[in-house]
Amino acid sequence: MTARVLSVASEAYPLVKTGGLADVVGALPAALAPHGIRLTTLIPGYPAVMKALENSQVLHSYKDLLGVEARLVGGSVGGLDVIVLDAPILFARDGGPYSDPKGKDWPDNWLRFAALGRAASDVATGAATDLHPQLLHAHDWQGAMAAAYLRFGEDAPPPSVVTIHNIAFPGYFPADIFPDLGLPPEAFTIEGVEYFGGVGFLKAGLQAADAITTVSPTYAEQIREPAFGMGFEGLITTRRDHVIGIVNGIDTAIWNPATDPNLAAVYDARSLHRREQNRRAIDSAFGLAEGGGPLFCVVSRLTMQKGMDVLAGLTDTLTSVGGRLAVLGSGDAKLEAAFEAAAARHPGSIGVRIGYDESLSHLLQGGADAIVIPSRFEPCGLTQLYGLRYGCVPVAARTGGLADTIIDANEAALAAGVATGFLFDDVTPDGLAGAIQRAISLFADREAWRVLQKRGMKADFSWKRSGRYYADLYKRLMKASPRR
Ligand code: ADP
Repeated sequence: MTARVLSVASEAYPLVKTGGLADVVGALPAALAPHGIRLTTLIPGYPAVMKALENSQVLHSYKDLLGVEARLVGGSVGGLDVIVLDAPILFARDGGPYSDPKGKDWPDNWLRFAALGRAASDVATGAATDLHPQLLHAHDWQGAMAAAYLRFGEDAPPPSVVTIHNIAFPGYFPADIFPDLGLPPEAFTIEGVEYFGGVGFLKAGLQAADAITTVSPTYAEQIREPAFGMGFEGLITTRRDHVIGIVNGIDTAIWNPATDPNLAAVYDARSLHRREQNRRAIDSAFGLAEGGGPLFCVVSRLTMQKGMDVLAGLTDTLTSVGGRLAVLGSGDAKLEAAFEAAAARHPGSIGVRIGYDESLSHLLQGGADAIVIPSRFEPCGLTQLYGLRYGCVPVAARTGGLADTIIDANEAALAAGVATGFLFDDVTPDGLAGAIQRAISLFADREAWRVLQKRGMKADFSWKRSGRYYADLYKRLMKASPRR
């Protein structure tokens, strides 16, 4: 029998995307279908969504959804089953999903996403449509209020899951919005939606949900600490028995070195020598000269979170020990300038491309020997997963999803043939330099390097694997609190 789940989020790839959240929301339905779970995704009716909506059918009309006229419209978009919250007053606007065309947050974001949560709760309880989902899965602060509305609503609501993609955005608003949320007065407590004297949307959801997930097991543990929890460490610690980490999958059709149209030469684990042609294409795109040592690459936002300041400070060391470096990224102006200065100091050994270039990012993974990811924190991370699949060996900080997906090439792991990359503990010049040095040493043993590449290419980071974890969680919760 098919189980129905309502997923609620503010983004879904390919319709609306500002980050990894959209990829996960867009990929989950296909990942869960083989497990007998049918996901319907509730998203706001942004102009792009309304335009792409097919087979639309009005499911419910609200005269007064938190004071706003709105409709729930069922349909499909790019193969996804969706219910759209069509509320022109809230969502028919130019600009981004959360901000005006100048990048300033909409002042009524609290109302926009409270309405989304309220509507999700109405669908989940059966008050608004006849979907009758057996579970509600809300994403990030924009979806999280759905779990709170469920909890403070009817007696026996379906179970709920809230997923944290980015704990840095709490959805925090002043207390004076509380009366307009349509929640009972008892909801404004520390066990409810109250958060540091105001209203916290993510907090409310995390408090109310039957289970909390985040995007890697290590990050799920790290957010119990003040350094990573960003104010939620107390709540996460209290609820730790309900928190699990599930690593994101990657789209293995788009990221497949055997078919990738962005590569100069396609290849697989048996034809790794063909990567040489991609390496030459990188050399020419980045103005690099031939060299005996490994070619390192970066595909990243150039920010402190990504530890790019540490790498920028190590470029002289990297070249002095025989490494070359191709950097693709954009971000902090100071870091962009630091990499450009490094390229000017080391012509032929360091090349920099400031900007976002999807195609070039594939070529780098397909031709560079290693990808450097010295992140200070990394909830999941995707570039190491692409690197592993492409035989571009990750050199990464041991944090979050990086720690969960890369097996460090220490003596024992090398001897056992299970190593897939290089991990280091301290995001400091010494820490990163040590890992780069280890990579350069191993690279000199071509046979050992090939083993490392092949092992990484065999690892399974498809949605098939991650989908199973979500399916197991859903089924456990549905069994524990079956909908009456
Ligand atoms: P985050 O979401 O924190 O930026 P992830 O590793 O989870 O980090 O995802 C980053 C995604 O963006 C990856 O798909 C990566 O390939 C891509 N990316 C980052 N910078 C660039 C760039 N300059 N050009 C092309 N793709 C990029």
